[in-house]
Amino acid sequence: MEERTGIAASPGVAIAEAFILDSQQFPVSHRKLHPSDVPAEKKRFLRAVKDAIAEVLLIQKTAAKQAAGEHLKVFDAHVSMLKDATLQSEILNEIEARCCTAEFAVSVAIKQQVRTFMANDFLKRLVHDLYDIQHTLLRQLQGSNSEGLSQLTENAIIVAQDLTPTQTVTLDKDKVVAFATDAGGRTSHTAIVARALGIPAVVGLGTITADIVPGDMLIVDGNTGTVIINPDEDVLDTYHAKVRNIKEHEARLARLCRLPAETRDGKRIRLYANIESPGEAAIAVERGAEGIGLYRTEFLFFEKGSPPTEEEHYEAYRQVVRTLGGRPVAIRTFDMGGDKLVPGEASTERNPFLGCRSIRLCFQHLDLFRTQIRAILRASTEGPISILFPMICNLREVRQAKSVVHEVMADLDNEGIRFSRNVELGIMVEVPGAATIIDLLAREVDFISIGTNDLVQYTLAVDRGNECVSNLFQPAHPAILRIIRDVIATGNRNRIRVAMCGEMSGDVVYAVLLLGLGLHEFSVSPAVLPKIKEIIRSVTSEHAQEVARTALSFDEPERTLEFLTDWTHHVLPEIT
Ligand code: PEP
Ligand code: MG
Repeated sequence: MEERTGIAASPGVAIAEAFILDSQQFPVSHRKLHPSDVPAEKKRFLRAVKDAIAEVLLIQKTAAKQAAGEHLKVFDAHVSMLKDATLQSEILNEIEARCCTAEFAVSVAIKQQVRTFMANDFLKRLVHDLYDIQHTLLRQLQGSNSEGLSQLTENAIIVAQDLTPTQTVTLDKDKVVAFATDAGGRTSHTAIVARALGIPAVVGLGTITADIVPGDMLIVDGNTGTVIINPDEDVLDTYHAKVRNIKEHEARLARLCRLPAETRDGKRIRLYANIESPGEAAIAVERGAEGIGLYRTEFLFFEKGSPPTEEEHYEAYRQVVRTLGGRPVAIRTFDMGGDKLVPGEASTERNPFLGCRSIRLCFQHLDLFRTQIRAILRASTEGPISILFPMICNLREVRQAKSVVHEVMADLDNEGIRFSRNVELGIMVEVPGAATIIDLLAREVDFISIGTNDLVQYTLAVDRGNECVSNLFQPAHPAILRIIRDVIATGNRNRIRVAMCGEMSGDVVYAVLLLGLGLHEFSVSPAVLPKIKEIIRSVTSEHAQEVARTALSFDEPERTLEFLTDWTHHVLPEIT
C-alpha cells in the first residue's frame, strides 16, 4: 500500500481499478512540402477546423445530456478559439511561408499563442484550452478519433498526466468514478468541470502515472487530496464505509433543497446564490437558492472580449430574472480591473488592485456604465432586481452612482420605456475605508453586501491570487472578524439589509459565526448552498451567538479557525 498527496480538486471518494489514459501525443511531421502541394495542405487544414468545430459541438451536446451547467461553456470557448480568424490566418501563413504540414503549422502557431497567454494573468488559465483545441485539430488532421476511453467496460479511476476539459466531459460517467492526474490545479478548467459533473478528483500528484500500473486498485479521496495505491483490507473497509456515509449525506442534502433556511428557533435567513452567467441561475434555483445575491456581470464582457450592447445586457438580465421566477436578483455593475482584465488587454497600471478598477473604471467610461444601468432598469419589469455597486470607498462614489441611475431613469421616462421604480440600490463593502464609515454609507443605500475576498485582501495587505502569501489570507484574523462584526451591527442598527457574498459566507466553517454576528443574508456558490442550509438549520440563534462570542475572544486566527472547525465537525461530522 502506498499513499500520495495532491490537490483536492473535486470532492467525493471513489474506489476502483486504475485505467491509465495515454496522453496521445501526436507525432508532428517536419516534412517539407512541394510548393505545389501548399494549396491542398491549406484546404486540408480548413477542413480539419470545420470537422473539429463539429466534433466540439457534438461533445457539448452529449455532455449537456449528462449534466447541464456552466462547464459546457468550455466548449463555447473552444469553438471561438477554433473560429478565431487571427489564429487561422497565422496557421495558413505558416503553411505558406515554410511549406510545412498543417500539423507542424498548428503546433507552431499554438505554441506562439501559449506564450502570449502565459504573459497575461487573465489569459493564463485558458492555456489548457489552447492545448485542448490543438489536440482536437491534430486528431482531425491525423484521422484518429479514438480517445482510449471507449475501451472501458468496468468502473475505473482514470489516471493521466493531465486531462483536457474535452476528455473530462467525454468520460462515461457510468464507468469513470474518479480521476487522478500528475498536473493541474484547483482552479483549472478540468477541476471546475470535474466539480460540475460531481466526479471526485485529485490533481497535481506529480508522478502518479509513473507510480502505478494498469489494474492497480486505487482510492481517490477528493476531499483530502489523497490517493491510496493498492490499499490493504482495513483501509479498504474504512473507505467503503466513507463512501456509504457520503451517499447517505448527499441524499439528505438533496431533500433539504425544498426546506426553508431557518435556525432551530425559527429565524429565517435569506440564502442566495452567486452566479457569473445566466446559465447558472437555473442550477442555483435547483439547489434551493431563494434569490441571487451577486450576479458578477463582468463575465458578460470577458466572454465577448468587448463591451456588451444594451440588448446583450438586457437579454442576460431578463433570462436570470425570469429563471428566478419572482425571487430577488442583485445585479452587480461591472467589476473589472485588478485581476479581472479584458482578454488580450494587459494592465498598464503599476498596481492594478489599487488602480482604476471596478466602479472607478465605470465612472471613467460613463457610456458603458449608463448602458448597463439602462439594461438593468429595463429588465426590472420582469421581477425584483437590485443594483449592487462594487469597490465603494467613499460617499461621493455612492452619490455619483445613484445619480447615474436617476439620470438613466429620467431618460427612460422621456423615451416612454417601462421600468420598476422599486429597484433597490446597494454597495459592496470590500475596502476597510468603506467599512469604517459604514454608518455614513448606510444612510445612502438600501442594502450592503460584504465582499470578503477583497476585504481580506485590502485589510491584511495580501494579494488574493498570490499563492506565496496565501497562508496570510486569513478570514479568521481578529481584524477581519471585528470589521465584519461592526459592519453587520451598524447595518442592522440602521435597518438596512446586510448580506455577505464573499467566499467566507460559503465556507461551512464560518457559517455559524456569521449567523451569531447577526448576518441575515448569505450569498454563496450554488454548489455549497445545501451545506450552508444544513448548518443554519442545525443551530439556534442563541447558540450561534455563543459560538461567535467565543470565536472573537481568541487573539490568533489559527485558534479561532481551530475552534470553528472543531465546532462544525462536532455538530455535523459529515460536512467537514
Ligand atoms: C469579494 O470581493 O468578496 C467579491 C464577492 O467580489 P469578487 O470576488 O468578484 O471580487
Ligand atoms: Mg470583490
